[in-house]
Amino acid sequence: MQIQDALAAVDALPQTCLKQRSRLYASKPLGPQDQPDFVNAVCRIETELSPWGLLEALQGIEQTQGRIKKRHWGERCIDLDILLYDDLQISDAHLQVPHKEIALRDFVLLPLAEIAPGLLIPGKGRVDVLISQLTETYVIPLQTDQTNQPGVG
Ligand code: ADP
Ligand code: MG
Repeated sequence: MQIQDALAAVDALPQTCLKQRSRLYASKPLGPQDQPDFVNAVCRIETELSPWGLLEALQGIEQTQGRIKKRHWGERCIDLDILLYDDLQISDAHLQVPHKEIALRDFVLLPLAEIAPGLLIPGKGRVDVLISQLTETYVIPLQTDQTNQPGVG
């Protein structure tokens, strides 16, 4: 499955270690509705890559997994985004951190709150407060346990 493969690939990046991951969550697609639900997850990593180095590495994984974007907001194999990087705030032509949509997307905030309850998102607020401000959510956890969670540490 694409997300498991991507998590393994992230863990295998140089100077990078997967520390924690959320369950998988199904969400309604943005944009065209005549496509399958999306599956989302967030993870926490430790890395010595810079934010830009990490972005490049994630784009490499997307390429390797054959991400094909058929239409705007349409089906795709995999999309790897940097949500946060420590408490840095970055805004340049290639990278916005925290991710520009982080505070608005239920499929980001719910998995994020699972692995980091009370997390403060720089410039946006606390993850639990942001969740309480969502007008509607359609996000369903797909796994009830985490027995298939990769080793942490
Ligand atoms: P989206 O993830 O918004 O659906 P894409 O994956 O196609 O869209 O990303 C397009 C561009 O977004 C990338 O080329 C990248 O340079 C830029 N980008 C800006 N901030 C981030 C971030 N935090 N994580 C990932 N990509 C980002
Ligand atoms: Mg992306």
